[in-house]
Amino acid sequence: DRIIEVKNLAYTYNDGTEALQDVNFAVKPNSRVAVLGPNGAGKSTLLFHLNALYLAQKGEVYIKSRKIGEKHKDWVRKLVGLVMQDPDDQVFSTTVYEDVAFGLVNFGWQDRDKIDKKVKQALKSVDILNLQDKNPHHLSYGQKKRAAIAGILAVKPEIVIFDEPLSYLDPAGQKTLRRILADLYGEGKTLLVVTHDLDFAVEWADKIIIMKKGEIFYSGDYEIFARPD
Ligand code: ADP
Ligand code: ADP
Repeated sequence: DRIIEVKNLAYTYNDGTEALQDVNFAVKPNSRVAVLGPNGAGKSTLLFHLNALYLAQKGEVYIKSRKIGEKHKDWVRKLVGLVMQDPDDQVFSTTVYEDVAFGLVNFGWQDRDKIDKKVKQALKSVDILNLQDKNPHHLSYGQKKRAAIAGILAVKPEIVIFDEPLSYLDPAGQKTLRRILADLYGEGKTLLVVTHDLDFAVEWADKIIIMKKGEIFYSGDYEIFARPD
């Protein structure tokens, strides 16, 4: 009963930076996981392995019990959606609409009406339907972030990863994001959220993973933060 399992994962960048060292953890389906840790701890590097953007150099990554390798990249990307920390890494079309439709088209959807319905629904749920014809490169960071989230909501993958989703979002955007997380959880999705917001992690997550220097420093429930007084 593990939708994600990571075993002895290690990853070293070309310049010799050992970003991950012997990382082990597992996630049950329909869980809410908060990933904490200082800058440079290896959080992004770890998440990039979960949607096969990076492949394990050492150790293994299993998604739905399948060991992920080169030939599973397409399969994994349909299953695992990633909202990157920097929205500039995720907008590339000439209109917001096309950007949000990209995932669906890429997954082989052809029915224009169906695509249209999904895209508009997704744009609406992040309150940017009015921006659909704009060039995403001309948007504010917060708006780009909303567009990137809409792109994931259009395809609704089984596992959704948000790398610091609260950054760049205004208070209304943060509220919207919390609603989206609750909806996705209610639909049975498995959610991983990288955050520096400890209050959010304790209030929201079923499982907390703390990374430090490329290793898992803590993995368990939020009780670690409960004070004995
Ligand atoms: P976090 O997401 O926790 O801030 P990262 O996974 O981004 O951590 O980074 C882990 C370590 O790997 C850091 O020391 C970082 O400087 C390094 N790193 C990240 N990306 C690269 C890269 N492309 N090339 C070399 N080193 C990198
Ligand atoms: P900025 O970084 O410029 O503040 P945001 O992405 O946070 O941009 O907000 C983008 C635009 O969307 C702003 O003009 C803001 O007024 C508007 N906006 C923010 N929240 C909502 C909302 N819940 N519904 C509709 N429009 C909103």
